[in-house]
Amino acid sequence: VVKVNDVCYMWSADDNIAAKGEYGGAVTTLMKYFLDNNVVDAVLAVEKAADLYDAVPTLITDSGDIEKSAGSLHCGTLNLAKVVERYLDGLKDIKIAVTCKPCDAMTLRELIKKGRVQEDNLIMVGVNCGGTMPPNKTRIMIDEVFNLDPDDVVKEEIAKGKLIIETTNGEKEISIDELEEEGWGRRTNCQRCEVNIPSMADIALGNWGVIGPLAGKATFVEVFSEKGAEILDKIVSAGVVNVEEANPKGVEIRAKIDQSMVKLANKAKDRDYGDLEGDILSIFNEFSEEFSRCMKCFGCREACPICYCSDCILESGPDWITKGLIPAAPLFHLGRAVHMADSCTNCGQCEEVCPSEISVAHFWGVINDKIKTIYGYTSGIEDNSILSPLSNYQDKGLRG
Ligand code: FAD
Ligand code: SF4
Repeated sequence: VVKVNDVCYMWSADDNIAAKGEYGGAVTTLMKYFLDNNVVDAVLAVEKAADLYDAVPTLITDSGDIEKSAGSLHCGTLNLAKVVERYLDGLKDIKIAVTCKPCDAMTLRELIKKGRVQEDNLIMVGVNCGGTMPPNKTRIMIDEVFNLDPDDVVKEEIAKGKLIIETTNGEKEISIDELEEEGWGRRTNCQRCEVNIPSMADIALGNWGVIGPLAGKATFVEVFSEKGAEILDKIVSAGVVNVEEANPKGVEIRAKIDQSMVKLANKAKDRDYGDLEGDILSIFNEFSEEFSRCMKCFGCREACPICYCSDCILESGPDWITKGLIPAAPLFHLGRAVHMADSCTNCGQCEEVCPSEISVAHFWGVINDKIKTIYGYTSGIEDNSILSPLSNYQDKGLRG
């Protein structure tokens, strides 16, 4: 019987899915099992659209279509929680399983806490994540740094600290550290992200820790909830996956890689937040020049998977947000900061869409860190029983 915290190696018993999957196709097989056995009405995953820089959400109801979602898209910077809340009506009438990177899972947790997603109708199948890369910039990097045609790329992979770009003519690899020192590589919010294993999902799957003959052919599975344990029990009994005991050395290695990724994230935070001291207003002031470029297109608010007012007071709103000023009045962002300070998961959607190239996620990262330092609270991580600090507000210095 499977229990919470159990770990194992797993790969698909279906040779076709095993070949198409990133590391043995366990996730795709799980999803297929859910659809074939009416465990869910639909699967929400990610598929390649125009090319591998173009990752889009896909809602699959027919298990015959599941293979199109197999594989990992490292330029897939999207956040699936927004699709669940906004386009699937918070799962009021549909039961789904969703593949989640840690920032998808953390955002779903925040939405569940706020009563905007029905947890009973959701199975979160987590995938570990060491970061995603911005699609357009990655194309430029492949052209200028790798000296390859981005359209010739058949696969990209991050392994052993290197970005490996594969074309039909072979592979080329460059260390991620080297790329990021030159301003390429992962999105900056991913560089600062400390959560690599989505322990807030029901189960999490990833390649770290798979050693020996199964390396590259199977994925490491860890169970994080009773729901996850039940799922694993069912698919193992059904014989749709192959399972092997995880090698204890592999378990150790996985923990070490996770720790070194956390260290790397803290280094990136020092680089980006190091000299940002003081209360929320003084931090806001540090960004005032950047925010002065804001043209109030509201793209960041629209892209945000958590922003919650159906009628935004900051748009229709009060006279204190004066329109038509150059530089623009900064209160839109201060207003958002007040609304979102305890729920932003720094998924980076805001920064990606900003036409004025304002480092919005950088600002939010500093705010998130401040909340963590002052209140010991991290959005998306704490379980449902722990109230957010602002719902039980005690001024401990956030206002200075
Ligand atoms: P598959 O059967 O191939 O299924 C993969 C699933 O992931 C599919 O459902 C697919 O739709 C979904 N998916 C693909 N791209 C995305 C995306 N961008 N966002 C959300 N879902 C997506 N594992 C590690 O141990 N260390 C890492 O550093 C690491 N980084 C990753 C980074 C990204 C962006 C992704 C998507 C995955 C990463 N993984 C990492 C997990 C690993 O690549 C495999 O997904 C995992 O081992 C499961 O393998 P599989 O063969 O069972 O998956
Ligand atoms: Fe301002 Fe950029 Fe947000 Fe548009 S997306 S409202 S320009 S910060």
